[in-house]
Parts: sequence; structure tokens; C-alpha cells
Amino acid sequence: MERIHSLYLHVPFCTWVCKYCDFNAYAVLEGLIPAYIDALAREIETAGEALPIGPLDTVFIGGGTPSLLTTEQVRRLMDRVHRIGLAPGAEITLEANPSNVTSEHVDGWLRSGVNRLSVGVQGLQPDALRFLERLHSGSDAIAALRTARAGGFSNINADLLYGVPGVKLAGWLETLEAVLAAGVQHLSAYELTVESKTRLGQEVRTGLVPMPGDDEQLAQYWAAAERLETSGYEHYEISNWSLPGFACRHNLVAWQYRPYLGCGAGAHSMFRRFDRSTERRWNIKGPQAYIKQASASGHAVAGSETLSPERALGEAAMIGVRLLDGTTAARGFPVQRTHLVEAGLLAEHDDLVRLTRRGIELANQVGAAFLV
Ligand code: SF4
Repeated sequence: MERIHSLYLHVPFCTWVCKYCDFNAYAVLEGLIPAYIDALAREIETAGEALPIGPLDTVFIGGGTPSLLTTEQVRRLMDRVHRIGLAPGAEITLEANPSNVTSEHVDGWLRSGVNRLSVGVQGLQPDALRFLERLHSGSDAIAALRTARAGGFSNINADLLYGVPGVKLAGWLETLEAVLAAGVQHLSAYELTVESKTRLGQEVRTGLVPMPGDDEQLAQYWAAAERLETSGYEHYEISNWSLPGFACRHNLVAWQYRPYLGCGAGAHSMFRRFDRSTERRWNIKGPQAYIKQASASGHAVAGSETLSPERALGEAAMIGVRLLDGTTAARGFPVQRTHLVEAGLLAEHDDLVRLTRRGIELANQVGAAFLV
């Protein structure tokens, strides 16, 4: 198995489950957090002994809402991470909800070694935040970005959602403007997608909520892309922009099809074998069952699958094509490649293929073409 240099830690607790969310997140289970941290610390320790892992180049503490943890709990997790070993200059990200970004938390996170903060702003307009069932206000979100910066974070991401019902292009651009003015180095803008099992999915199905059409969503996407480019942000992945040198190194690992370990409830791992096959593993999803299993045995794997070298190459092309600089992974697929170039969805540059503008709009279909 290839050596692993990236670690994802999942914290599945939230104060409230937003109606559009289909992540592995649970509300009203905060009482489980201490036992969960014990179990997660145990899983990290066991993995460090059993797997070829470290030194770690990237660590990502995601959720859920990791900022619900006390700074002492974050420090405990980071102690375990340190035992695996960190590479010099490792990128260590923590996801935070704006309401939790206080100067005390910021100080504690920095002291634990966290050096990148990803803030779930999502939107700033009161109607958008109400619709999304976010518990913070727009001014809370801007204050959070400013507090993080003033407290010493120099690598901050803001997550935003576009295509929110009721938010028009002008309102979306105002949101973007305010977030840029708060001085973020990285910005992720995701289309609000309707997942069938969520409450939003139900509301859309029953006609209670009309979603904006594709044209409106694309207009917001491209307007954001143009605005960000004007301010010097590089559009490096379909939904991600950064100032030069601030691309998210952890997410690049997944897009470049390099191995990573995921610990925590429902976390996924990807391992690469020397024969170019891929192993995917996933953990037990429910926090209680996870705590029980990981506390008892140090791991909580619920299932795994192995992808043949051919299938793994297809998956690498499917994921890699999301990077706007292009990917070489598609070179093993001359038929699909030619077809997609002729259809105007891909452009070829030497060994690389890149999405065209139309290809970006149809990226899921382009990627799926490589899964043979
Ligand atoms: S805060 Fe984030 S993870 Fe938690 S429910 Fe809302 S969208 Fe999902």
C-alpha cells in the first residue's frame, strides 16, 4: 500500500440539522461528544500503528460542526495527530460555524496547531440564512471572518451557497463582495443542490419550494467566477477559488487521487495499492455505534471495496477532471477523450485534458464518461 500523508477527522455533531444537509451530521447528541473524542483518539492511535501513514502533509477536521468541540478536545485530537507525525508546514484545517468563532476559540485552535480555518458562511442575506436554517446572521458571519483574521489566521476559507431560492443575482454578488472585503484567502461556492432524502428534497418534491432554474444558477456561478478573477483569485477547481498559494492542499489530495485516511463516524478512506488498484473503506455512520465499536477495538470499518487498476484509473480521471488546470488521468481513455473534445466539453493541451466552459457546466456527465 502507498504511504498515506493526509488525514480526515469527522465530527458529526451539529446544533441543528439544516434542511438541505445530507452530510453525516446529527443534532441534539452533543452529550456524546466526550465519549466520541475518546473513541476518535483511539481510532487515530490504532490507525497510526496499523497503517503506513505519516508524516502528515494535511489534516482536515470536518463535520458536522467541529467548532462545537472545546479547544481542549481539539488539542487532544491534535496530540494524537502529532504522534503520527506532521510534515514541516503541514496544512491543518478546522471547519467552523460562524457562531463559534470567538477570540478564545481562535486562540485555542491556533495553539493546537490548526493553521487554516474554513468558515461555513453559506450566505449573508437574512432571507437566505432563514431559508437555509442557519443559526447565524450575516453580521455574525462577517464578524467571524474578521475575528479569525485578527486572532492570527492567515489562511481562511469561506464556504458559500449560490442558487438559494429568493436570492437574486444582485444579492448574491453583494454577499460575495462583503466576504471578499473581510479578507479571505480561499472561497468555495457550491450550488445549493436538492438531495432527495433531506427536508428540502421533500419540500421541492411536494412543490412547496420552487428552486431557481439552471440558467439562474449558472448566471450566479459565472458572475462569481468573473468577480473573483478580477480580484486575483485563481479558479482551480469547479467550485473553489484561492489567492495564489492558498489552494486547499487537503482537497487537492482527493482530486489528484492520492490516498487519505478518514477517521470518525461515517468517514471514508482511500488507499492506493502498488498494483494501481484502489481500496475504499468506510466507517460505521451512527455516532453511538461508532463510539461503541471504536472504543472497543480501535477501528470502526463498516465496509470496503477494491477497484481494479482500470476502474481506479477511470475514477482518477472522473475526479481529476474537476481541476481546471487539467488532468493526465484521462490519457488512458482515448475514445471518451476524443468524443468529449468533439462535443466541446474538453480541450486538449499536450498530455492534459481540461474542461471547457460548457464542460464545467456539465462536469458530472463529463466525469461519468470515464467510469467504464
Ligand atoms: S451546520 Fe453544516 S453539517 Fe451541520 S447540518 Fe448544517 S449544513 Fe449540515
